[in-house]
Order: sequence, then structure tokens, then C-alpha cells
Amino acid sequence: MAEFDLIERIRSRCDVARNDVRLGIGDDAAILAPPPGHELVVCTDTLVAGVHFPLETPAEAIGWKALAVNLSDLAAMGATPAWALLALTLPEADANFVDRFAAGFAALAAQHHVALVGGDTTSGPLTITVTVHGFVPPGQALRRDGARVGDQVFVTGTLGDAAAALAARRRQLPPSQREALDARLDRPEPRLAAGAALRGLASACIDVSDGLLADLRHVAARSGVGIEIDAAALPASPALLGAFDGDERIALQLGGGDDYELAFTAAPALAGDLLRDLARIGCGATRIGRVVDGEGVRAFDAAGAAITLTHAGWEHFA
Ligand code: ADP
Ligand code: MG
Repeated sequence: MAEFDLIERIRSRCDVARNDVRLGIGDDAAILAPPPGHELVVCTDTLVAGVHFPLETPAEAIGWKALAVNLSDLAAMGATPAWALLALTLPEADANFVDRFAAGFAALAAQHHVALVGGDTTSGPLTITVTVHGFVPPGQALRRDGARVGDQVFVTGTLGDAAAALAARRRQLPPSQREALDARLDRPEPRLAAGAALRGLASACIDVSDGLLADLRHVAARSGVGIEIDAAALPASPALLGAFDGDERIALQLGGGDDYELAFTAAPALAGDLLRDLARIGCGATRIGRVVDGEGVRAFDAAGAAITLTHAGWEHFA
């Protein structure tokens, strides 16, 4: 199958139309019209088969996740998404794979009104790079460097399911116990509405992609503060509670990546408003710790003893 046919299969499935796309797929470049008076927020993320997703991942899930991890970065900035680019490297011109991949990508793109405006298609080991663009009112993007001593630390939703999905496969838990966990790993829901709601309220924000401790370390370092986490306060899903307990569950929640929840800090005086605004859009959030003088991130158990993890998050080239 020719490269043109593959591109056409993708284009026809990703059919979100936007007025701000003056020229989309088909020319040498796209022409886009950002809304006046807004800042453009841009990011890109690559997924490599066997590194960022298991080789047996369904094609639909790969397409969904390639977009989801990028939209999650926009969510963490408080940005409203608009446009995406897709650079696809395929081992073979497999029309069935491309159709299913595009269907997964398109389903999430439609949900958040994201137009696919271009990309590139090449031959090689399965690798997907997506670039997304979004908007924020000037100066209102959420950043990693705004946490202040005395702020409280929160996380949306629940933590640990995606890492638990991988652990459950290794452990060969029954499919009935794995279904909800697998859904979190394969089809993460980027917290875009929550990110937008946090503008003007959160002092710092990051999405949980590498693991809570690893990601909060970035907030601590960029903000010049320390962060303390109460492990007993970490929110867990019913599926996680049913499949893992004790230290193992805590380790999945503190160290496991791929949850794509938002971890954020806020001044105590704003916490009430913030939790109310999140509840209004159907997003639960839990207070899990505090910002302190010092540096780094430390976690404590219910008795107040420090917890050390052997595998805190996931670091490339570590
Ligand atoms: P060029 O050789 O000028 O870079 P291409 O043949 O690579 O052009 O791409 C033709 C058009 O198809 C361009 O508009 C490009 O953005 C788009 N395109 C190519 N691959 C993809 C893809 N995987 N997803 C979306 N658009 C794509
Ligand atoms: Mg090209």
C-alpha cells in the first residue's frame, strides 16, 4: 500500500472540523489561525513499541494513547487543545493496523474537538510521535514552578491502576480483575476539564506520567521547595483495592506511571473553591500532602515513618 493511501485512511477517519484550520492535511504544511489574545501551548511526546506500551497492545489503544499522553500535557498546563500532528513510523504498510490505530486516535480527538492537521508517515520500527497545540489566556498557564511553602498537594482521580494492570498481567490475575485496570493503562482519559478549572487556583501542576514521586520531584525542583506525601491518603480505585493491598499497593500508587491524573498544589485558602469547581465538572480530587521548606519529595506511612521505594517511577537512560 502506498504512503498516500495510508495518509488518506488516517485523514478520512480523523474528521474533526475547526474554523481555525485554514489549510489542513494535503499541502506541504498546515495553516492555522490561533485565537487573538491567547497564548499558544505546544508539546510533543513519542511512544515506542515495547518501551511505552506492551507489544500486544491493541492498535485502537495505541492510537488513543498516543494522543492521550499529549493531551494530558496540555491538561497539566491548563490549556484547551485545538490541533494535532501525527508522525507515524510503521514496520509495514498494514491497512488493518492503520484503520484501527486511526479509529482509536479519532475517538479521543472527537471527544476533545482536536483537528489532525498534518504529520509524516515513514517506514521503520513502530514509533508514534504526536504534537499538540492548545490555548490559554495570557499568563494563565499552569506551571511546575509555582509551588510555595504552606501550599497543600492534591491529585485528581485515583492512582496506581495503570501500573497495577502490568503487575496483574505478570501475576496472571483473572481477566475479571484486570479489565478495569487494563482500561486505565490502554485508554487514559486526559484531565483537560480539570486542568482548565485549575487555572487561577492551582499554584503548580503536573500530569502523573512517570509516577507520582518522580513527577512531584520536578515540581519540587522547579519551585525550590520540598514536598511531603501521606501515603495513607492516596486515592485508590475499587479495582486496585480488589487486586493489591499493603505495601504493594502503596508502591504502585507512589511509583507507578501512566495514570495521567493531575498532581497540583494550591494555597489552603483556595482549596475549598478548587475542590468545589472540580466536583462541579465531575472530577474527584484528594489532598495528599503539603509543600515544605527544603527539597525533594518524601512519603510517609500512617504511623509517620518515611517510606522508601526501590523503584520510584520510571526514568529513561537511568
Ligand atoms: P511532504 O513530503 O511535503 O512532507 P508528505 O507526503 O509527508 O508531504 O505529507 C503529505 C500531507 O499529508 C501533508 O499535509 C502531511 O502533513 C500529511 N501527513 C503525512 N503523514 C501524516 C500522518 N501520519 N497523519 C496526518 N497527516 C499526515
Ligand atoms: Mg513529510
